[in-house]
Amino acid sequence: MSADGESAENGDLTRSGGERGGAPTALVLHPACALHDTGWKHPEHQGRLPAIVNAIYRDMPALHDAVLQREAELASTTALLRVHTPEHVERIEAAAARAEREGAAVFLDGDTVVSPASWEAARAAAGCAMTAADLVLGGEARTAFALSRPPGHHATADHAMGFCLFNNVAVAARHAQAEWGVERVLIVDWDVHHGNGTQDIFYGDPSVYVLSLHLGDHYPGTGAADERGAGAGIGTTRNVPLPHGLPAAEYRRIFAQQLEAALAEFEPGLVFISAGFDCLAGDPLGGLLLEPADLHAMTRLVIERTRPSAGGRVVAVLEGGYVPARLGAGVVCVLRALAGLPPEG
Ligand SMILES: [Zn+2]
Repeated sequence: MSADGESAENGDLTRSGGERGGAPTALVLHPACALHDTGWKHPEHQGRLPAIVNAIYRDMPALHDAVLQREAELASTTALLRVHTPEHVERIEAAAARAEREGAAVFLDGDTVVSPASWEAARAAAGCAMTAADLVLGGEARTAFALSRPPGHHATADHAMGFCLFNNVAVAARHAQAEWGVERVLIVDWDVHHGNGTQDIFYGDPSVYVLSLHLGDHYPGTGAADERGAGAGIGTTRNVPLPHGLPAAEYRRIFAQQLEAALAEFEPGLVFISAGFDCLAGDPLGGLLLEPADLHAMTRLVIERTRPSAGGRVVAVLEGGYVPARLGAGVVCVLRALAGLPPEG
């Protein structure tokens, strides 16, 4: 786990471009993630993870030999504090304790809910992303998918919002830098909403590049194309606001073009995908027209185009997606892409 050893290995991979060992992909879960109780009328409800697990189970004949399943460790306070303020971490813990005491959910804003189980769930969600990164960086798996819930990309250093308590992908990115000596991290965020929290956390940081494609005229209202970073981080934020109803083929063309532009500016040693499935057609909180097979193609593109510097190290982390059946189909397609399998069959 030394920084020197890891960068030397990165160098070898860059030169050889060869396949690494380990399982084709890993699926990282934690039972606490399903216990975060927002209520059944909430779009980010407890049925989301069972829908994903059921879809994966139905595809088991194909996935069985390709997917290493692993339970996450809870994110430690040290890991959370690499991204979040002590006040924020304490606020989440205190809100869950209050929910337990009062026997009722605590609302941190109009739609961000904390239930008694949410303190453990929030640490588990960040922990899923961290464990997924550990498996990939440690060579146990070539790629990984973290079934994190609650989602993370709207959470800022000091603020829960948009269903998100801790910023799971940001915590994992900082963990990879601190514990594995990864120098440069690319985060590709294709959730239909702008990942304002992730952007905010890394806005002045040239070591983490955030590429976000999202609906322009939509929650949370940030993510304009001219938001490109601040100070030393100018140029390592790239926003691509898109119109409602953009045809999938056009989206895919723009995605490829913007990924190329990002990679012309930045050579990542590790790649995260903030994988929101509310970009699929029919999502009640969305407005784009992608299909699961599009996400398969986009995942393969990210793996292949970042391979020269990242050696295939791609970690997908669950964000949004609010039609359970579509969410399940989407995750299966991304998992198949991570494992090197075709989208179906
Ligand atoms: Zn979203």
